[in-house]
Amino acid sequence: MVWIILILFGVAALWRMASQPDFQLFGTLVSKVETSEKVIALTFDDGPTPGKTEQILSILAMQQVPATFFLIGKEVEAHPELVDKILKAGHQVGNHSYSHQRMIFKTPTFIAGEVEKTDALLRMLGVTGDIYFRPPYGKKLLMLPWYLQENQRVAVTWSVAPEDYPQVSSSVNELVKYTVDNSSAGNIILLHVMYDSREKTMQAVPEIIKQLKAKGYRFVTVSELIELGKQHTAMQKLSDYPVSMVQH
Ligand SMILES: [Zn+2]
Repeated sequence: MVWIILILFGVAALWRMASQPDFQLFGTLVSKVETSEKVIALTFDDGPTPGKTEQILSILAMQQVPATFFLIGKEVEAHPELVDKILKAGHQVGNHSYSHQRMIFKTPTFIAGEVEKTDALLRMLGVTGDIYFRPPYGKKLLMLPWYLQENQRVAVTWSVAPEDYPQVSSSVNELVKYTVDNSSAGNIILLHVMYDSREKTMQAVPEIIKQLKAKGYRFVTVSELIELGKQHTAMQKLSDYPVSMVQH
C-alpha cells in the first residue's frame, strides 16, 4: 500500500516537472535569453486558422513588429497559403507538432513523425534555417527531448504566459496589464489568437505591443532573440541540472 502511494506521488511529481516550461532533461531548451538589450519575442501558437491569421497579420503590420508563429503541421497542410502570408510578412515560423497531441509517454517513431512531417511541410513552403520546435501543451519529458537532442533540434517554450490565469485571460485589460507587468528583457511571450475562444487575446495584442514599445522594448523573432542571447546562459544543457534530480 505504501509503495502504491509512493509511486503515485512519483508520477505526480514527474508530471509536474514535465509541465514546467523551463525544465527539460535532454537537449537544448530556450524559455528566455539573458540580454542587456530591451528585446522581447512575441509568439503565437496553433493554426494557421483562416480569418484569424489575416487578422493577427494585419495587427502586426500596423504595429510594424515581427513575431514567431508555432504552427500545427495538419493545419499547415490544410492552409499552405496562410503560411505563405506569414512568411511574406517577414515573420518566423516554428514547428508545433503535426497533430498537437501530448508528447509525454509517446514512442520515438510517433515523435519523429510529428516533428519530421511538420518540418518537411514547412520546408516545402520555403522555410530555411533552423526550425524550432515547441511541444504541444509544453509537455516534453523523456523521449521527446532525447529525440530533439539526437536530431540537433532546439525546443522553444516561453517565460510569459498570461492566458494561464483564467481571471487574466477573460479580460483584455488584465491580459495587457499582466503581460506588460511581467515582461522583461529577453522574454518570450506566449499568446493564442487562432481560436474564437481567444478573441480577448486578439484584442489585447495591439495594446500589449504599444505599451511595451512605450517602455522601450523592441520586438524580435525568436531566432533574433536567440542570437542576442547566445553569449549568455539561458541555453540550458543537461549538465546544468543537479544529477540527483534525474537519478532519484
Ligand atoms: Zn498548442
